[in-house]
Amino acid sequence: MKKRGLLILGTAMLMAALPAIVGAQAQTYPVIVIPTGKGPYTFPEGYTTPFDKVEMRVTEKMSPNLFVIHGSSGLDLSHPDASGGRMMILFGPDGVLMVDTNNRQTQEKTLAAIRSVTDGPLKVLVNTHIHSDHTGGNAFFARQGAVIFAQENLRLDMLNPLRSDGTAGPAPDPAAIPVVTYRYNPAMPGEPAVTLHMNGETVDFIPMMPSHTAGDTVVRFHKANVIYIEDFYRNFGYPYAAQTSGGSIKGMIEAVDLFQKLAGPDTWLIPGHGTLIHKQDLLPYRAMLVDILARVKALRDQGKSLKEVLAAHLTAPYDKSTQGDTQESTDRFITEVYDEVKDFPPVVNGKRAMPRHPVPEK
Ligand SMILES: [Zn+2]
Repeated sequence: MKKRGLLILGTAMLMAALPAIVGAQAQTYPVIVIPTGKGPYTFPEGYTTPFDKVEMRVTEKMSPNLFVIHGSSGLDLSHPDASGGRMMILFGPDGVLMVDTNNRQTQEKTLAAIRSVTDGPLKVLVNTHIHSDHTGGNAFFARQGAVIFAQENLRLDMLNPLRSDGTAGPAPDPAAIPVVTYRYNPAMPGEPAVTLHMNGETVDFIPMMPSHTAGDTVVRFHKANVIYIEDFYRNFGYPYAAQTSGGSIKGMIEAVDLFQKLAGPDTWLIPGHGTLIHKQDLLPYRAMLVDILARVKALRDQGKSLKEVLAAHLTAPYDKSTQGDTQESTDRFITEVYDEVKDFPPVVNGKRAMPRHPVPEK
């Protein structure tokens, strides 16, 4: 009886200890804390984004110390699936490395989200591209101590702001401008420009070919087997090659091809918007880009005007499977392709260049 009692006690102890052991062993990543919104979303005429209502939260955990921070869904007119551009933090004893800074309007809330998981010093910030939903908090976080890294093209773009009508925009806050820059080397696509060793991770900043913009960087976390792929791919709305910043649809196809080599089959790819994916998920996107390029080129070669090409509704086969597709997102995509198949972006000195930053002679 005594033995049996001990056995029962032993089992009880084991049972008590089990959840903790199972918890530790079964913790697999990613942990989706808050799923990205799916929509559909509609907003009334004249709606403007109420940034005071947008919350910034840890939405995905990619490893014990590599988290994603993103805004709430259903509020942001530009990004209703989740406000602003996804950002990441790697944290631990070596301080905090940030990927992008989301919108300026939510920067204090972004800092609070960071402070909910770490009180470490903000040390390094890398910008994946210039758009304000990814760099809006730059000056704020630089003043907190973060040193900003980016492609040289991004810095040039920030120093020479243009409005959409082509006139000069307001001067940037000097604190927002990247301090450490590097260039994309077309001879070595996928080669990291910077490698950092922090908090048990090895982190590569990999400059990309002109794709979403001409200043893109993707960020690889070796140990977590994660790559932040910013906006050359999206699964909410149609592709966006920001031509005023040197973006290119053909470059997006090159980017997808590079990722078939850069990523493993299980590598998690983190887009700036939409849901997390693997490299196989890039292939239908690539096929759509190739198909639309060919269709638009055929029509343009026949002398069709942009208006006629837009009216042909070439994205129809894809509309059903493209979440968040709107007339605006479709038209923007087709317009980019229409420009690119003929005369955009320009080639300067044999290199595709940002329209307002010709490649210097050398
Ligand atoms: Zn974005």
